[in-house]
Amino acid sequence: MSLYTTIATPNGLQIKQPLGLFINNKWVKTNQKIEVINPSTEQKIVSVYAAGEGEVDEAVEAANKAFKDPSWSGITGSERGDYLYKFYEIIKRDAEKIASIESLNNGKPYESECLAGDLVESYSVFKYYAGWADKITGQFIGSQVLGKDKICYIDPVPLGAVGGIVPWNFPFMMMAWKIAPALATGNTVVMKSSEITPLTALYYGQIALEAGLPKGVLNIISGYGKDAGVALSLHPKLAKIAFTGSTATGQKIMQSAGVSNLKKVTLECGGKSPFIIFDDCDMKAALEWAFAGIFYNKGEVCTSTSRFYVQDTIYDEFVKKFVEYTEKNAIVREPFDKDCTIGPLVSQLQYDKVKKYVDIGVKEGAKLVHGDFINGKGFFCKPFIFTDCTDDMIIMKEEIFGPVVAIAKFSGVDEVIERANNTTYGLAAALFSNNITKAHNVASRLQAGMVWINSNGDSDIHIPFGGEKMSGMGRELGSYALDTFTQQRAIHVNMTLPY
Ligand code: NAD
Repeated sequence: MSLYTTIATPNGLQIKQPLGLFINNKWVKTNQKIEVINPSTEQKIVSVYAAGEGEVDEAVEAANKAFKDPSWSGITGSERGDYLYKFYEIIKRDAEKIASIESLNNGKPYESECLAGDLVESYSVFKYYAGWADKITGQFIGSQVLGKDKICYIDPVPLGAVGGIVPWNFPFMMMAWKIAPALATGNTVVMKSSEITPLTALYYGQIALEAGLPKGVLNIISGYGKDAGVALSLHPKLAKIAFTGSTATGQKIMQSAGVSNLKKVTLECGGKSPFIIFDDCDMKAALEWAFAGIFYNKGEVCTSTSRFYVQDTIYDEFVKKFVEYTEKNAIVREPFDKDCTIGPLVSQLQYDKVKKYVDIGVKEGAKLVHGDFINGKGFFCKPFIFTDCTDDMIIMKEEIFGPVVAIAKFSGVDEVIERANNTTYGLAAALFSNNITKAHNVASRLQAGMVWINSNGDSDIHIPFGGEKMSGMGRELGSYALDTFTQQRAIHVNMTLPY
């Protein structure tokens, strides 16, 4: 097997696809492979090389060496910013190619979601952190605070060689969220993609080469969680793991970090986010945002609002209109079809998981008013809407991570807040109301890292992203991510020596 192949995408592009691991600015072969499947056809796209413990070790060594090398450790913030700006320019230039491979591998709609969404956000993140790279100035605490005998300066220094592990739902973008702030703050990086969607991650190797990044500063590996993921999180020479994925895996990563070297850990994990629809809402807008909030990216979104609480006075009207809205707007097609709003689920595993939960919902007595699996090749389904749900149902409690929504009724404000918060998760929450006092009051009482008023699913590179409770630890994006990739070194100076 060679280190490159050409992939022909349904939108007529011929794209050069790397297949190896990217370690120390070289493409590397291994003994293990991963078959990458097209979820629209269930056919193999290509196989890529997978990392085992040995290759993880090589990548971590390369990152540690690069961290000490003056070509990286000796440059200024402004020079690091130049590298990041090159990443921005290259990704923007190649956005169509990268988005095409992403859609092919993940199944998300090419134009509306992948190109206009993931890719724009990915290059914007590099531009944003390019701007930050020379503005991380530290702090000085002088005689006004400490008296004339002492001064102190606090230098925010990088952590060292850091690892990142990402899932399959936003493969290229989740990497951008981690690589950009990690490099802006002077760290070196080993990133692992998901075994389900390893293709676009490898473009970061090509981008690093074209941008002229010194060797070892950015290493990209494909690999299975049980092999490469475990080896990364246990590695004693990584200073941090930045993880996005399920809560169960996040817990394992924290354990591995604890028993290895107490590496820092940030976690972006799962959710079961509530969407509260009050009877004084703008119904038309609520319907649009309800649809996007659960069915964007086929419901394979950590923040998707998969539990709706609708006020009893408008419950029947909302349900009827939401089913009609879904019937009209859920266009289940192959992801390169311009009209597609819902592509295939990402994998057989995910398809089976959704099927399992739909069966559970029916058995639990929830009313299935929309949705079906589509026979034939590809992991396609029409989105599922369950009504008449109660909070004890599994489909109201567990993260399904697919196009399945469970709708329940509520009557009072305090009641719905308590029910919305009654979960181990705390990633996001949305509410619709035209009463501004009520809207802000309820928002402040919802236990979630992100709350949306009269909107749903918003994320912005300038604003912190992350969860409360078992949805995560730490924040990505904005200036907040910079703190998670630096440590504060305090230098105390004794001014009393004779001279
Ligand atoms: P997952 O936890 O199965 O896998 C995520 C990554 O972890 C993959 O790269 C996988 O190879 C790796 N991994 C698996 N087991 C590992 C182990 N024992 N040690 C180290 N690494 C391991 O999650 P997934 O199925 O790929 O993604 C879906 C989950 O991700 C959902 O729960 C979703 O909510 C969550 N997610 C969260 C966010 C967020 O920002 N909060 C964003 C996207 C997805």
